[in-house]
Amino acid sequence: MDKLYSPNTIRKIKEKHGFRLSKSLGQNFLTDANIVNKIIEGSAIGQDDLVVEIGPGIGVLTAAAASYAGKVVAVEIDSHLIPILEETLAEYNNISILHADILKTDLIKVLEQYKEINGKPRTGVKVIGNLPYYITTPIIMKLLEDAVPVDSITIMMQKEVADRIKSGPGTKAYGALSVAVQYYCTVASVASVPKEVFVPQPKVDSAVIRLDLRKEKAVKLTSESVFFAVVKNGFGQRRKTLLNSLTGVMGKTKEEISKALTEAGIDPIRRAETLSIEEFASLSNIIAKK
Ligand code: SAM
Repeated sequence: MDKLYSPNTIRKIKEKHGFRLSKSLGQNFLTDANIVNKIIEGSAIGQDDLVVEIGPGIGVLTAAAASYAGKVVAVEIDSHLIPILEETLAEYNNISILHADILKTDLIKVLEQYKEINGKPRTGVKVIGNLPYYITTPIIMKLLEDAVPVDSITIMMQKEVADRIKSGPGTKAYGALSVAVQYYCTVASVASVPKEVFVPQPKVDSAVIRLDLRKEKAVKLTSESVFFAVVKNGFGQRRKTLLNSLTGVMGKTKEEISKALTEAGIDPIRRAETLSIEEFASLSNIIAKK
């Protein structure tokens, strides 16, 4: 089989199968062996690990992952890519292709099927993918909110989204997504990726980050739903003071929010973007108790 990261291979596959790249499915295929290696190395796949790949495309990451993992399950939505993947990955006996929408897939159930790999208990579950940009955030949040038992998620996304996920308080990129992801995970940068390494070329640069799921969440919460309501409302109107943006959250009056802020030691005229995750936690714990 030709090298799957070669633009020439992509062209040949398109011709042979009459395949047309779909913009609406976010199909920008990776054509750089170096970046493929960085994603695989960054995800630290072990030989008895289960790898779940989101959106295999023509299988460039899938093939690389299969050389290291016990088992790879690749979830691809595009029916036209299924026969292509069966061809490009024919030499591997440890890959299963699942024709499905990742957002509608019960991953917990999928993981149950592979508790053992080659007769041995699996050691870990690693998620990898060059994500379709149009649903990057929903995919990450689904994995985290559904508590899918994975060890890490190593994924390529638009640089701007990676920056938002990594940022801390006091920066422009810091927002509800940063707090939500950092609540569940620690975040590590794996690679910066220029737009030139994709076919077709997207408009923006990308980045690969690894999310390592925390054994204990970043903060202790009385109520996750109150915490996320506070975060969402705080950043929903990020130019407003917390006193104004949070009035009405959980049905609380301005006076009640003012009291909660004071009790948490937070000046009511501060804005959400200045609050650390610990401050969001103590404020939401006070609101949840009242
Ligand atoms: N992994 C390949 C690579 O790096 O060259 C392809 C990456 S491409 C950016 C995104 C892939 O995700 C495409 O193959 C696309 O068809 C697939 N995809 C898009 N939406 C999906 C969904 N909801 N569920 C599963 N796969 C999806």
